[in-house]
Amino acid sequence: MAGKSDISEHRAEHFKTVKRLVVKVGSNVLTTENGLNTRVINSISRQIAVLMDSGIEVIVVSSGAMASGIRKMEFKTRPVEVPQRQAIAALGQSGLIMTYEKALAKHGKKAAQILLTSDGLSNRKRYLNARNTINTLIEWKVVPIVNENDTVAVEEIKFGDNDNLAAMITLLMDADILVNLTDIDGLFDKDPRENKDASLIHEVATIGKNIENYAGSIPGALGTGGMLTKIKAAKKTAAAGIPMVIAGGVKKDILLKLFEGRDLGTFFSPKGEKLKSRKCWIAFNTKTRGALIVDKGAQKAMTTKGGSLLPIGIAEVEGKFGKGDSVEIKTRDNAVIGVGLVNYSSEDTARIKGLKSSEIKSVLGSKPYDAVVHRDNLAMTDACSM
Ligand code: GLU
Repeated sequence: MAGKSDISEHRAEHFKTVKRLVVKVGSNVLTTENGLNTRVINSISRQIAVLMDSGIEVIVVSSGAMASGIRKMEFKTRPVEVPQRQAIAALGQSGLIMTYEKALAKHGKKAAQILLTSDGLSNRKRYLNARNTINTLIEWKVVPIVNENDTVAVEEIKFGDNDNLAAMITLLMDADILVNLTDIDGLFDKDPRENKDASLIHEVATIGKNIENYAGSIPGALGTGGMLTKIKAAKKTAAAGIPMVIAGGVKKDILLKLFEGRDLGTFFSPKGEKLKSRKCWIAFNTKTRGALIVDKGAQKAMTTKGGSLLPIGIAEVEGKFGKGDSVEIKTRDNAVIGVGLVNYSSEDTARIKGLKSSEIKSVLGSKPYDAVVHRDNLAMTDACSM
């Protein structure tokens, strides 16, 4: 096991290389019993401004719309009915963004509001639009403040919680780290609000059952998350090669201290190298329409050599898909080893499977591509597992 100083060094190294940061701020950090916690929003905005002035690009994913709306309406609990919940979010979001805007303006920075639903990211075109918009804001040195579009989001198009949304944004924007600020100082082995002897886990290398069990015992109060959704988010970022930190959002200068490399909160180490965002999008955001069963040779070429999937390596075609659709890549014993975007429809793939690429033209009449799935459009599960 790594000693404390190894851990500090390890994370200090990561923070030193960060060019783009996603910081998620939870509802419990942003609100008090009386509404928005302006003091905390001021403090976080100041820290963001300091980081930006040192050349770091910052994207904020902020909760707090519902919590703030609930306080505005003086409700005791979150409404259960959907229209009420959506109305509460609308009521809270306006004040939330206004507070950020005022707080950032004190440091010469501007805020922009981005409200997303998950269907906005699962379509490649809209995904690229969202990415371009956020990139433009960053170029303009404006702070994008992202939240789920709670007033229109219904179950089928929901991210579910902002921990997940923040992980998606981290992948979408190819960020170097996700800092998840919450009302607890990190992941503990028990709920520290109820157990005095709870101890902080400084670093997590692999998210196994024990980590999930710890997290499961620590629910959230106001937001929808709790620790479990944070762990799920960490799994996604770690699988994409991006670290995540859970830390206490109300701690003084928490972001600045983390960037100094201080050993605060829980650091989730990334698994391997950072995947290109396109590959993460393929792995995490696309709905698969079918599957390609591949032989051992193709499996080896893709997993160990980063190769494309050629027709010769395809044994079977499952499902009905069109060109550009997402399919699972499976072994003959039905294990999913990857996800990719196909260059050929299911019908055409079935006709060329098992053939050499040079034979495609004689079967289909033309050969627009050598590969059925090009390596740029292929995310192997071992590198990007969920
Ligand atoms: N989008 C919700 C809000 O702004 C928060 C959801 C969450 O915290 O997970 O209130």
